Parts: sequence; structure tokens; C-alpha cells
Amino acid sequence: MSAPSLVWFKRDLRIDDHRPLVEAARLGPVLPLYVVEPDYWQLPDSSQRQQAFVADSLIELDRQLGRLGQGLIVQVGDATEVLASLHRRHGFRAIFCHEETGNDWTFVRDRAVRGWCRDAGVDLHEYPQFGVKRGLRERDGWSRHWEAFMAESALEPPTRLVPVVECELPDNPFADSPAFGTTPCPSRQPGGIGAGESVLESFLAGRGRAYRGGISSPLSAEVAGSRLSPYIAWGNLSLRRIVQRTRAARSDARAANDTRLASSLNAFDQRLHWHCHFIQKLEQRPVIEFHNVHRGFDGMREDDFDQDQFQAWATGQTGYPLVDACMRFLIHHGWLNFRMRAMLMSFAAYHLWLHWREPALHLARLFTDYEPGIHFNQCQMQSGTTGINTPRIYNPVKQAQDQDPEGRFVRRWVPELARVPDSHIFEPWRLGQSEREQFGATAYPEPVVDYQQAAREAKARLGEYRKQPGFREQARAVHQALGSRRGSTRRKTPSVKADPRQGRLI
Ligand SMILES: Cc1cc2nc3c(=O)[nH]c(=O)nc-3n(C[C@H](O)[C@H](O)[C@H](O)COP(=O)(O)OP(=O)(O)OC[C@H]3O[C@@H](n4cnc5c(N)ncnc54)[C@H](O)[C@@H]3O)c2cc1C
Repeated sequence: MSAPSLVWFKRDLRIDDHRPLVEAARLGPVLPLYVVEPDYWQLPDSSQRQQAFVADSLIELDRQLGRLGQGLIVQVGDATEVLASLHRRHGFRAIFCHEETGNDWTFVRDRAVRGWCRDAGVDLHEYPQFGVKRGLRERDGWSRHWEAFMAESALEPPTRLVPVVECELPDNPFADSPAFGTTPCPSRQPGGIGAGESVLESFLAGRGRAYRGGISSPLSAEVAGSRLSPYIAWGNLSLRRIVQRTRAARSDARAANDTRLASSLNAFDQRLHWHCHFIQKLEQRPVIEFHNVHRGFDGMREDDFDQDQFQAWATGQTGYPLVDACMRFLIHHGWLNFRMRAMLMSFAAYHLWLHWREPALHLARLFTDYEPGIHFNQCQMQSGTTGINTPRIYNPVKQAQDQDPEGRFVRRWVPELARVPDSHIFEPWRLGQSEREQFGATAYPEPVVDYQQAAREAKARLGEYRKQPGFREQARAVHQALGSRRGSTRRKTPSVKADPRQGRLI
């Protein structure tokens, strides 16, 4: 038998449209490998809920690979050491894997693996798994690149793998590698290719009809949103396959005059583009994980971190009903819709004036769908530190009135307020002591800050930083390197030229 090739699975836990697997299988026998990396799982952006999702995914990946002829090898340890030990045993000639745009730790690990390959004389073949382009410096032409990638035919899995080793998936692959975040997640989405397939199927077949108009409220978004994020983040589904199936379903909907579904799928398609748009930013500037996108904001919040306020926010005890309901919902489900994620982050950054880094890590641990490229960019956007997006300060009372007008979501997730009447449900601090007792709301905390005053102060502080000399020039440079080119023909004045003192209150 010829020497095998090794396929290293990372955040691409599927066999469909998997170029490394296809290319390796063309050459002969394949060793499919997943490495449980204890040091990764000790990072402050990792958590048990993500691990559990991955564990589900590995079971199905192993089953599908096993059906082809060679099951999944799971090893625990440092990736280079695991590869070196497998190399001694099996003498593979090449490693095939997808490029990963992860956090700094995975960038460093991948560099070490490249070094090991060079030293060991092993060829390393890395392929993009979605529309992110490695080595790019500026964003001109990027959208065309994305479209071209998505238009290429998705790859069918190999029909057969030559058996190389017998292996059995451990009952709990993560038994010796506990994760950093341990907050339980009773309603986590199950991981795996099959679960992802059925979520996609139900969305395209009709659930997606409610997408437009349905994804802003936490009441409707749970069903109206695609809910595909963890399946995309851990690669149970190929993004290209999702884009192609979405476009086919949109054509069918148009042909059937189902305009509601067609326009919803259009809006959804755009989000799939955003997925890569944001990850591309981290690919180009990995430091975004740690530093402000626009360095002119350095020093703005660094010295003001109030641990008690952070704890109140992190546990859903701020005294702002919708903020607390969203945090508690997220803790329970491992997922939250976009608008409410943005509101949570905006509340931490503006009302509590917390530097984005700790809140971002907290949210990362709570998201089953944690995707570093989207996450750190969004956290910075909602904190006003990109310099190229108009700052949005979400008003937690108005958002509640708009997105949960009858207080159903709040009453469900903040049961201390279950009996409070509509008139006070979003502003329970206006109740007198006797009314609080009458409605059983005494256990609910007083607001951590005065939200109106805090928002005014935040806007003023942000404005001061945006007025500094050189701010606009740096914002232009950020836009040139990372900013979206879509819509720039529609928008006469790019946001970098917006009045530097203005922040939008919404
Ligand atoms: C502070 C903050 C942090 C976030 N962190 C993450 C994260 O770690 N992982 C993550 O997948 N999404 C993140 N998002 C983006 C977005 O909230 C989620 O992708 C979305 O809520 C997932 O639900 P869905 O799959 O039903 O979304 P849908 O609306 O159905 O979108 C489909 C897919 O498009 C992509 N997408 C959707 N919205 C965005 C967006 N605004 N930017 C980039 N890609 C998008 C996702 O891959 C998503 O699964 C974050 C948003 C904010 C405001």
C-alpha cells in the first residue's frame, strides 16, 4: 500500500464539499485526524458548550468516514506532537487541511505545524473553506472573489477510503481536556452534519419565509432566523453548499410567486456574504482580537473597568429587563439573535463603559457558534472602536418596547417581573416599594446605572476621541484595508466622514 496522506479536521467537521479530503483521497489511503488540544480549550474564549457541540459533530463525522472505509482518528495533545507521533507510526507524506482564520492561538499553532512540516519533509496543502482570501492587503475586488468561490461546484465526498488503521472514537473525546467556560447550557443546539442538514432544510422549505421582519425580535427570531450559525462555525455544513442551495430555493420561490420567501432568502444570502466579510478582517488583522480596530481609541476605556457592573451584566442582573432577559436566554440556549447580541454588547460598552475585551470573551464562551472573525469585529463595532461604522447606542427601554411590546419575552426570562403590569414591565424601578411587594418584584435589582445619563456621557466621550487630530486619516486607512465596498456606490458619504461627534441612539 502507498504511504497515506493525513487529513486534519479542525473547524470543518463534515465530509461534504471538503477539498482536503477529496484531494487526499485522490492520492491513495487517508488518515483522517481530529486533535483535541487541551491548551486551546483552556483559552478564555472556549467553553464546554462548544466542546459538547464538537463532540456531537465528531460522532457523526466518524460514522460517515467509517462508512467510506476509514473512521476518524482522535488524539489528545499538542498538534505538532500528535502529528510527529503519527508520522513516526504511519509515515504519511502530506497533510491536507483547510485554512483556519481563528484566534491568535490557532494562528500560532498553525505556524508551528507549518514549521514542523518543513523540518519533517511533509508537504502541507491548505485550502480556503469559504470566501476568505489569504494574503490580501486591501478589500478592492474582494466581493468578486467571494462570488467566484461560491459559484464553483461544491465537491462530492470520495466514494471510498482505503482502510489504514482500526480506530474507535472515545466515549468522551474531551474527558482529559476540560474547557475554560463551564456555564451549563440546557438548550444547546445539537451538533452534527445531520442536525445541520435538517435545520437548513426546514429553513429553505418555508421557515425562512418569516426571516425578513422576523429576526429582530427575540420572540420570533428563535424560529425565523436560520439557526445555522453553529453548523457554519464548526463546519458541519459547507458555506458554499448553503449559498448554492439558498439561491436555488430563491429561484424556485420566484418561479412560484412566493415573493415573501424569495425576498427573505435574498436577505439571508447577504448575511452569508457578511460571514466571510467579517472573517476576512481578522484574517488581515489578527490583532483585532486584542486591540482596537482604530488605534485612536486606545486608552478610552482601559482604566475604567468596574468588575461589579461587569458581573451584573454577565449574569443578567443589571436591572434592565430586556438586557437581563437576553443574557439569561443566551446562557440557557447558547444562541441569541443579532439585534439582541448587539444590544448586550452596546449596553456593556456604552452604558457601563466597559472595555470590549472582557465582555467579548464572556459572550464568546456563551455562544455555541463562536466564530472569532465575526465575533471580535462585531464586539468592536458595537463598542464604537472601529472608526468606520456609525456608533449605535441601543436604548434598552425602547428596544424592549419595539421588540417585545407585550413583555412576553421579559416575563419568561425574568420571572421576578412576571406579575408586573405592562405599564412598568420595562421600567420596574418606577414602582414604589409597596407595588414591588404587591407584584413580587422585590428580588429584581435596581438599575446599575441611569441609562439615559450613561448614554449621554458615552456619546460625549466617544465624540472627544473622534475629534482627535489624525482620526479621519486613520479611519480612511482602516476603511481602505478592511471596509466593505458593497453599498459604497449607494452611500454618498462614507461613514468615516460622518460628523465625528454623532452617535446614533436607537
Ligand atoms: C456582538 C456580536 C457578536 C457576534 N458573534 C458571532 C459569533 O461569534 N459567531 C457568529 O456566527 N455570529 C456572530 N454574530 C453575528 C450574528 O448575530 C449571528 O451570526 C446570528 O445571530 C446567528 O443566528 P442565525 O444563524 O440564525 O443567523 P442568520 O441571520 O440566519 O444568518 C445566517 C448566517 O450568516 C452569518 N451572519 C449573520 N449575521 C451576521 C453578521 N451580522 N455578521 C457576520 N455574519 C453574520 C452567520 O454565519 C449566520 O449563521 C455576532 C453578532 C454580534 C452583534
